[in-house]
Amino acid sequence: MALLEITELVKKFPIRKGFFNRVKAHVHAVNGVSLSINAGEKLGLVGESGCGKSTLGKTVVRLWEPSSGSIKFEGNELAHLSAREMKPIRSDLQIVFQDPYGSLNPKLTVFSTLSEPFKLHGLAKNGRQALRDQIAELLEVVGLPGGALDKYPHEFSGGQRQRIGVARAVATNPKLIVADEPVSALDVSVQAQILNLLDDLRDDRNVAFLFISHDLKVVHHFCDRIMVMYLGSIVESFPSDNLHADAKHPYTRALLGAVPPDDPFTKTEPDLLEGDVPSPINLPSGCAFHTRCSFASDQCRKEVPPLRAISDVQQVACHFVEADGSFNPPSK
Ligand code: SF4
Repeated sequence: MALLEITELVKKFPIRKGFFNRVKAHVHAVNGVSLSINAGEKLGLVGESGCGKSTLGKTVVRLWEPSSGSIKFEGNELAHLSAREMKPIRSDLQIVFQDPYGSLNPKLTVFSTLSEPFKLHGLAKNGRQALRDQIAELLEVVGLPGGALDKYPHEFSGGQRQRIGVARAVATNPKLIVADEPVSALDVSVQAQILNLLDDLRDDRNVAFLFISHDLKVVHHFCDRIMVMYLGSIVESFPSDNLHADAKHPYTRALLGAVPPDDPFTKTEPDLLEGDVPSPINLPSGCAFHTRCSFASDQCRKEVPPLRAISDVQQVACHFVEADGSFNPPSK
């Protein structure tokens, strides 16, 4: 049984207008996403800003209530649990936020911040000194000195603050962490340190990750499997071993083209991505990517391509990716 099993998850936000505050339209943030994560697995969810990946992550940990669909964690349905019913599950299901500056209360010391999850879930040792020792041990796990206990967030660098965010998430020894752009706000050198820390947590504690990022290179480096999201839907899913050879969907290839090469003289994918992501209020007809895809045909404008398996480990939603993985768009 998968640790997390999401089926046909939908999250839309109503837009209300007028004197009677009536619902006039919806923001279609997540449109029928299905995925599963096994214990200890690192699944990467990648896409441009505004594609719905953060909304998906927050819905999975039930910071948002889903509009429809199923979220099964260890076989238990979470989709419509109340905040009180979610409380015992939260210790196993945690989130790390993108902003290491905004996600910590500036008025609380590290000790106060990190004692909260222990107390909330009844894991705090008796006595203040015992709890201080417990939190000092946790700081050691995330690579911060015990002397950090009585400091405030402003006394730390961005990378150190993100380590505090990670410490808060792992305090309860969770089975799954949703890491929502955990390194986007950090310098490249610090990014590597945080990714190594998350890797160690997977190895030492068998924590699974839903790792959300706009950066295909980071996802490729960190994750076992990649899912590509566009306008609220998954358009491709495949193992991350051989990214350049395996990516088939025109959107994934376009994201690859936007990744700067390590060596400036290396030939990269042509830059195929034009324009902005369309509004999630008025989704395009047919294939949602057709407004930006240079291969789009009449069929693309009319018919939604289903997410089809092209191998045991890969699925693609494009009319012209064949069962053998070849891409054969109609000639123009
Ligand atoms: Fe492009 Fe058509 Fe494939 Fe969509 S279905 S990605 S528009 S070729």
